[in-house]
Amino acid sequence: MELDGIHHITCITADAPRNVDFYTRVLGLRMVKKTVNFDAPDVYHLYFGDGSGAPGSILTFFEFPGAAQGRAGAGMIGRLRWRVGSKGALGFWADRLAEEDVVVEPAEDGQALRFCDPEGLGLELAVVESDDEPLIAVAGGIEAGYALEGFDGVRAYGVPTERHERLLVETMGFRPASDGRYALEGGRRKAWYAYEEPPAELGAQGAGTVHHIAWCTRDEEQEAWRERIRAAGARPTPIIDRQYFRSVYFREPAGVLFELATAGPGFAVDEPLDRLGEQLRLPPQHEHLRERLERTLTPLP
Ligand code: ZN
Repeated sequence: MELDGIHHITCITADAPRNVDFYTRVLGLRMVKKTVNFDAPDVYHLYFGDGSGAPGSILTFFEFPGAAQGRAGAGMIGRLRWRVGSKGALGFWADRLAEEDVVVEPAEDGQALRFCDPEGLGLELAVVESDDEPLIAVAGGIEAGYALEGFDGVRAYGVPTERHERLLVETMGFRPASDGRYALEGGRRKAWYAYEEPPAELGAQGAGTVHHIAWCTRDEEQEAWRERIRAAGARPTPIIDRQYFRSVYFREPAGVLFELATAGPGFAVDEPLDRLGEQLRLPPQHEHLRERLERTLTPLP
């Protein structure tokens, strides 16, 4: 059994309209699903990704209207990194982000650039050589050669111990790599998870922080993965139906919430692929709330 890289990363926004503007218009992702938080259906769960909503490209946000800005600290993910295809693409993004008054910081000898979203979420673009299929959303004003190509990895704050090593390496199949990274290389898509020294200040979950990261499992292997996680001493939830995938959640030893999400059935299960994200979609258990939700949910651009 191999994990197929990152499935999705879920974060928190207090400002859904600005969030949609930033990730679709500025970063050029496609909104692939507009739905509600299944556990708290009065607020949105918004999904962005490539043209087809492929695992590996999916960034999602829970809307917590009015939430205070959070701060990444120990036991939290502090930065998400996407791949881009060339140094030319990095130059394009440096200019585009500067035009939007986003502060951009070069990193890794000019092979990466770092910035934050409007709510302070740490982001990074990097030129990465990879055989993985580029997961591109073709959006207005961004040539395919410059587009974001899917997630590369994430940086979490924590000090890895033997327990981390056992869960990540022995149970989940990561390989220890350089720079505090643990790499997933055996599946259909590569990814890494890195630990960095936590900042002195305590973290606080809130707007602009990561809620969890989901790793991609094959549909027929999820039950076996759950059993493997349980046998390793982590405490997985039962398998939960999330309409577009099935999920199991557990915490890694630093405290970051992990999810194992199936590749299927995918985002075209309740609307056609060419119309993804255009209308509010509700799971069957919340469909009776539609009339009220369409009146009360935050209007989006
Ligand atoms: Zn999730």
